[in-house]
Amino acid sequence: MAVVEARHFRSPPELHCLTTAAASEAMAMAMCSRLCPGVPAHFKTRPVSKLRFSSSFKASSSQASGSTAKYETPSRVGFLGLGIMGSPMAQNLVKAGYDVAVWSRTRSKCDPLISLGAQYKSTPEEVAASCGITFAMLADPESAVEIACGEHGAASGMSPGKGYIDVSTVDGTTSKLISTQIRSTGALFLEAPVSGSKKPAEDGKLIFLTAGDRSLYETASPLLDVMGKSRFYLGDVGSGAALKLIVNMIMGSMMASFSEGLLLSEKLGLDPSVLVEVISQGAISAPMYSVKGPSMIQSMYPTAFPLKHQQKDLRLALGLAESVSQPTPVAAAANELYKLAKSRGLSDHDFSAVIEALKAQLEQNK
Ligand code: NAP
Repeated sequence: MAVVEARHFRSPPELHCLTTAAASEAMAMAMCSRLCPGVPAHFKTRPVSKLRFSSSFKASSSQASGSTAKYETPSRVGFLGLGIMGSPMAQNLVKAGYDVAVWSRTRSKCDPLISLGAQYKSTPEEVAASCGITFAMLADPESAVEIACGEHGAASGMSPGKGYIDVSTVDGTTSKLISTQIRSTGALFLEAPVSGSKKPAEDGKLIFLTAGDRSLYETASPLLDVMGKSRFYLGDVGSGAALKLIVNMIMGSMMASFSEGLLLSEKLGLDPSVLVEVISQGAISAPMYSVKGPSMIQSMYPTAFPLKHQQKDLRLALGLAESVSQPTPVAAAANELYKLAKSRGLSDHDFSAVIEALKAQLEQNK
């Protein structure tokens, strides 16, 4: 288990905020008003804060039990949201011997967990009330806020001594909103979006990008180590969300570019399988190309990372870049392709189905 922590922080003046662009902020505030009436007014109106970036990282390794855990890790753990990622993550906690309580919007998604020994609860509030630490793995900012702050949401079941860890991919504004609501109950909050897809989730090899309450990070480390191969502690809430969005911004552009290459090689009479093989042996090799390439060539897109989530991440990353006036023309172009793919009914396919958007453009140009 690799453990990497931001040891030194600075606040570069040019880097504003835990927020995304104004549009994203407005959306989060609208959700806040609707779902979190208890959020203090100053949160709704206060200016963006500074994003604290680490200027240096020091990596160290530890075994799964982690020498950093100073507090007792609860044996009873909650998990909200049993989709592609949440289900295998919760299963790994059950298999590791933790007493797990689960809830998911679609009741049937809980059945495989229940058959492994997890206990079903009928609301996020009940899960949080019955567990020391509750994880949430939800689709997007809207669902993350609703499940944390809405009626019978997790915050209603929180109290001092408990912790809430949101592992969904959301923007910093949303994460801070949830953090405020959870912390107002006296509980602790950690954002911990993950890098890694369905297979790493199944194999317990995710990478956690955490930020928030340090003591919760320490208490939860043995749980993170069950589900992941490494964890990064990045400081204030918003830093983990920002880093995750940057990673997925790069990934979305890489996949769009790879798709262009596959189609161009085919159009030129070259075997796209050879392109995949050549890439795998060179400096631009990435597991993503070798794993997804062969099925993309067959126009098959078995879902590991839904295309709608990749487009959501590009949208949020573009908002983040906008908030600091950072040009991101490549990501913006990629985002348009994912939007086109969504409009063609490919939202729930794997994000590699973005190649279909290029095929559609090809057809239009004929
Ligand atoms: P998913 O399969 O679509 O699961 C999404 C979860 O959110 C499901 O449990 C779903 O509930 C729940 N949900 C959606 N809308 C909801 C609402 N309005 N109210 C309550 N619950 C709602 O997605 P996933 O692939 O597991 O991804 C989950 C998160 O992890 C996303 O933020 C994604 O960007 C991120 N992520 C995904 C991957 C990946 O490779 N898949 C990798 C890293 C990060 P039900 O299914 O029970 O209805």
